[in-house]
Formats: sequence, C-alpha cells, structure tokens
Amino acid sequence: MAGYNDQVKENPIFRETKESLDKIGKGMCLAKWTQVTLQLQTGHNHSCHHPRTHKISEKEIKRNPSALHNTQYKKLRRREMLTDKRPVECDYCWNVEDNSDRFSDRTFKSAESWSKPHYDEIVNADWRQDFNPRYVEVAFSNACNFKCSYCGPPYSSTWMNEIKTHGAYPTTDKFNSMEGMIAENKVPILHKDPNPYVDAFWKWWPDLYRDLHTFRITGGEPMLAKDTWKVLDYIIDEPNPNKDLNFAINSNLGLEDNMIDKLIDKINKIEDENRVKEFVIFTSVDTWGEQAEYIRNGLEFNRFWDNMNKILEKCPRVNLTIMSTYNALSVPNYDKLIKGVYDLKQTYGSDDRYWNSAVFLDSSYLRYPSHQTVQILPDYIKPLIYKQTQLTEYMATPNFETRLIGYSDIEVQKIKRIYDWSLSVKEENLTEQRQNFYRMFSEHDKRRGTDFCKTFPELEKFFMECKDLC
Ligand code: SF4
Repeated sequence: MAGYNDQVKENPIFRETKESLDKIGKGMCLAKWTQVTLQLQTGHNHSCHHPRTHKISEKEIKRNPSALHNTQYKKLRRREMLTDKRPVECDYCWNVEDNSDRFSDRTFKSAESWSKPHYDEIVNADWRQDFNPRYVEVAFSNACNFKCSYCGPPYSSTWMNEIKTHGAYPTTDKFNSMEGMIAENKVPILHKDPNPYVDAFWKWWPDLYRDLHTFRITGGEPMLAKDTWKVLDYIIDEPNPNKDLNFAINSNLGLEDNMIDKLIDKINKIEDENRVKEFVIFTSVDTWGEQAEYIRNGLEFNRFWDNMNKILEKCPRVNLTIMSTYNALSVPNYDKLIKGVYDLKQTYGSDDRYWNSAVFLDSSYLRYPSHQTVQILPDYIKPLIYKQTQLTEYMATPNFETRLIGYSDIEVQKIKRIYDWSLSVKEENLTEQRQNFYRMFSEHDKRRGTDFCKTFPELEKFFMECKDLC
C-alpha cells in the first residue's frame, strides 16, 4: 500500500502546480506574493513564514502603505523568482528539493486556495507591481500578560520588563538578550507609543480587507491591543462585509471575565449575521495544570480552562484550536491534556461548527530555544511520549462517526511526529543544551520564585544530571 509520502508525490494537484511553477523558474513560488506575516510592533515582515523577517522601510510606507508587504527588498526576491533564480532566503525549500524527491512548501503553498487562483495575474505582472496578499497574519503590538519560557521580548511586554531588569538568561547563547534584539533591529515599539507601521496598516486596511481570504491576528496577546477590537468592530459595522473571510484570533485566554464576555458578544454578532465564513480562536497550552503554568508564566490553568468552556458553550459555531508547543516540560502530564481535550470534543462537537469538531489539538514540537526541546531528554523519559501517541490513537474518531468527536488522523500523526523527532538527536550539541537547560531553569526559579523540582518531580533526576554537567 502506498504510504503518505507516496500519495503526496502522486497527487496530481501538487504535480501540476509544481510543473506550472517550474515553467516560470526553478525558484518560483506564489507565496512571495500571496502570504505575509506582519510584525507591526517591530516593523518586520516575511513572506512566507520560513525566511527570516526583514525590516519594513518607514519611508516606503509613508507614500505607499501596501509596502508593509510589498517592500523593495521583497520585490527583488520576486524578480529572482520570475527570472529562474532561487532566493537564498528560501533555503528551507531548497533543502527539501535538493535532498529528497518530495515537494517543498513552495508547491504546497502555491497550490492553496489563497494562492493558486492568482497564478496568471502574478506571473504576467511586472515584478515592481504591488500585490495585495490573501493570507495575512498580523501582530499589532507585543503587549502581553504572559512570559512563556520559550518566548521573548519582541512578542511579550512582560518578558521585555524582565530582561530590562535582570538581563539575558545565563545560557551560552545569552537567551533573550537585548543585544541580540538590537542587532536584529527588533526592539519593539511600546504599545502606548505612536507606531508608523500600525498607522500604515489602517490606511491600507479598507483596500486589503476586500481581497482577504484569511486574516489572523496574533501578538503579544491580541485582546490587549486596541487595534484588535477595532478590526472586530470594522467587520461588525461594515455594510458590505467580506463574507468569504476566514477569520482567526490567537489568544492566550488568560483574560478577565469582562473581556471574555466582550469577545463572546462580538463573535456572536459576527457569526449571527454571517459576516465571515469561519471564525477560529487559536489558543495555547503545552501540558496540564501546574506544569502548564510553569511553562507559560502568567497562565492560571483553571481560569484558562473555564474560559475555553465558556466560549465553546456560548459560541455554538466557533472553532477552537489549541496550539501546543510540545517541549521537554510537556512530557510528564501531556496525557492529561489529551484526555481533557477529548472531553471537550465530546461535549461540544456539533454539526453547526464549520469543521464539525469544536476543538483541535495542534501539537508541534518546540525547535527553539534548543535547550528546551524534547531532544535533550534522556532515553528513559521518551517512552512516555510514545504512550501518549497510543492514547491519542485510542481516542481517535471511530470510522462510523461523521462528527469529529474524537481525535482526527492529523492530530494523531502530529503527536507521532513529535515522538519520532525526539529520537533524532544530534549528539554533538547535547551536553551544551543540557547545561543550558539547567542554567535556564535554575535562573528562572530565582527570578520568578518558582520551584522546578517541586513542580516537575518526574524530571528532578534529569535536572540534577544537567546540574552535574555544569
Ligand atoms: S519558496 Fe518556500 S520559503 Fe520561499 S516563500 Fe515559497 S514556501 Fe516560503
């Protein structure tokens, strides 16, 4: 029987898409036009999310607000793509294409419904021409009430305050140092200060909104940015709304009751009048209970879980996706999260929801910072991850069930992928990463008044082994 990879390789849509791209050039990819992530708090963007971000020119956006996406830098990359060259910044894709016979993301992203219909328009236009992206992610500010262990100041004002007070963490790579941010020109503009990138966004917005296929607001914590509420009100008040829009907000859901109630009210107004095609809330948690609170500093687990229940109960059409950044500290209690999400699926799954399923557990492995990945764990802990893959399989949606009231194949595969990845360890860096693991969390305990060994008794032995390495 053909495996998943064989099926993808044989898929005629991907094959045709790649052929049509290759006709223009070996580096052609529609995502350079159709997709963008805007980090307005630092004035950076990238298309797609694989290349490093680059700085947006304040001068350019003054005369042309769409230069938030259509930067001169990006137009030069587009010219390379249209003239049979491969932009160096897209090495993520070239690595896949040069080292395997698989399709890279340039094929998958160009085959998406937000890319493919625009093929002719893009390949026939001059490389200097502006193009409105169809898939947009935007962060308005770094205002955030959390400081998750793997995050940093560009995305969290709480992190920023800590680094300003205490400096970088004492890992060998000086985790979250100000110097690193300054070198990358990524020092965030404070939420209360004027921000020329946000101003340009609002000038561009009425034109951009009409063309959007998918719009996702990230952060920081977006609900703490006034611009997020402004977008919601715009959609509610717009006489001629873009009804094909897939709309999403990322929120840590660590919010006061009045804010959650206000959000629910706006979601229901938008959904009741069919002002968008789909409304998804993305939220995050990486394991269960007190251990989850340690990983995501600021999280009150019970409040978070109550808020999820409240949204699912009061918004009968909304979908909730939990983005779980599976890291070394997720392992001991992830089975409890798997069971908790399963209960939510059973309670709230309904035909009214866009995907039938109320909740989706999107488990991805943490890659950076490397001192916190599952790869640093010793072999005696990893079988726990394997057991979690079995548990998810056991809770999969039965074949005869049309509603997704259990785990889908994708959710199961994603946890399996974490287990596989945990085994593919590069030995040469392991000692340094384990030393950094100890340095990071012993400093964390000092600064934040936490107690690693009390919170993670299952990892105490490993923590002490890391200490010995230092
Ligand atoms: S070629 Fe690859 S890395 Fe570059 S924009 Fe396309 S999908 Fe992204």
